[in-house]
Amino acid sequence: MQADLIIVGAGMVGSALALALEHSGLNVLVVDGGPLSVKPFDAQAPFEPRVSALSAASQRVLERLDVWPGIAARRASPYRDMQVWDGSGTGSVHFSAASVHAESLGHIVENRVVQDALLDRLHDSQLGLLANARLEQLRRSGDGWLLKLTDGRELRAPLVVAADGANSAVRRLAGCATREWDYLHHAIVTSVRCARPHQRTAWQRFTDDGPLAFLPLQRGDDQHWCSIVWSTVPAEAERLMALDEEAFRHELGKAFEWRLGEVSQVDPRLCIPLRQRHAKRYVESGLALIGDAAHSIHPLAGQGVNLGFLDAAVLADVLLHALERGEQLNDVRVLSRYERRRMPHNLAMMAAMEGFERLFQADPLPLRWLRNSGLNWVDELPEAKALFVRQALGLVGDLPPLASL
Ligand SMILES: Cc1cc2nc3c(=O)[nH]c(=O)nc-3n(C[C@H](O)[C@H](O)[C@H](O)COP(=O)(O)OP(=O)(O)OC[C@H]3O[C@@H](n4cnc5c(N)ncnc54)[C@H](O)[C@@H]3O)c2cc1C
Repeated sequence: MQADLIIVGAGMVGSALALALEHSGLNVLVVDGGPLSVKPFDAQAPFEPRVSALSAASQRVLERLDVWPGIAARRASPYRDMQVWDGSGTGSVHFSAASVHAESLGHIVENRVVQDALLDRLHDSQLGLLANARLEQLRRSGDGWLLKLTDGRELRAPLVVAADGANSAVRRLAGCATREWDYLHHAIVTSVRCARPHQRTAWQRFTDDGPLAFLPLQRGDDQHWCSIVWSTVPAEAERLMALDEEAFRHELGKAFEWRLGEVSQVDPRLCIPLRQRHAKRYVESGLALIGDAAHSIHPLAGQGVNLGFLDAAVLADVLLHALERGEQLNDVRVLSRYERRRMPHNLAMMAAMEGFERLFQADPLPLRWLRNSGLNWVDELPEAKALFVRQALGLVGDLPPLASL
């Protein structure tokens, strides 16, 4: 099978790229190892444990790809405020959408909901889609690539995009170098019901062992459910995972300083080891990496998939421009335009997350003082906070047409 462009991975980011190229006239083929089936949505079903905090910029991308209606029709929880505080000090900072006259700071959406809304659109499109198609081998052949799937099928294309996630097979098979390190943190994720309503606020407490986030979810009119991301050292994560439900609810409520009262219900817990990984280059001749295949970062700022959607939007913009000019899409000079626009942004976000993480893990007194007074200082600077909020909303910076206002 031959295509102009093969996207390996129909996760959130690969699917978004495919849809962004829907009207390009290119013969685009998306392949994924999974079944790519869409589950009928049940509004009363428990929340999926994996969620994403989608920024306004991601929402705009998904609106322009006509995916957002499918998300809104399932479930998405807008949040208007964010409260961050230092659990072992006195510093705290509050951000609000109202400060920049926005309706929300973003939406908490289950990954499954985003994925299914994207798949609905992909199935309805003319784009080529191969389910249960797991890439096993990749090698250069002539001017392009030969891809072999586990079932023996062979595919060819001059341009391949790796959107196959943090453990990208494309990246490994193409020999792309990465820089990676362990955070020595695991994240426990699940959904919990609290005694008090979440007030459409995303809460984040920095504990001595790592950040604990309570992200607001909504089922019908019920505003007592939150998705939690509890990042902590592996031994502590293991201990918390081994607790029975009642003991876990108690430990969680205590770690969260009972800000939303007792934790009355908890869904099954998932424990995910956290690694930071960054490809040294996002492109080479005939190849581009996007989303988690290019970078995976600490979930503390909830930015992973937001960076991925911007990668997809910028790469689509670069390819569409190159098509208009009659340039070769697999030319590394064309693909480098994507890397130049995205790598500095992604690196800055990763460095900021790491700095934050280290600052909050640090024990020496001057650093404790810095973070307490720093948080309180920022809290009293409305202009600095508004700038931060505009940044988080994706209202500033080098935005591709799909994400711009
Ligand atoms: C605990 C936690 C919390 C997070 N919270 C947030 C958040 O609040 N906000 C946010 O923006 N991000 C968050 N993230 C990050 C976010 O989940 C990821 O950035 C996002 O899922 C990456 O999407 P992707 O499409 O690049 O990759 P993936 O979602 O991993 O998709 C990869 C796809 O490739 C397919 N695939 C893999 N290998 C092959 C192969 N060999 N052949 C064919 N197909 C293949 C897979 O089946 C899959 O469909 C969080 C991450 C963690 C761990």
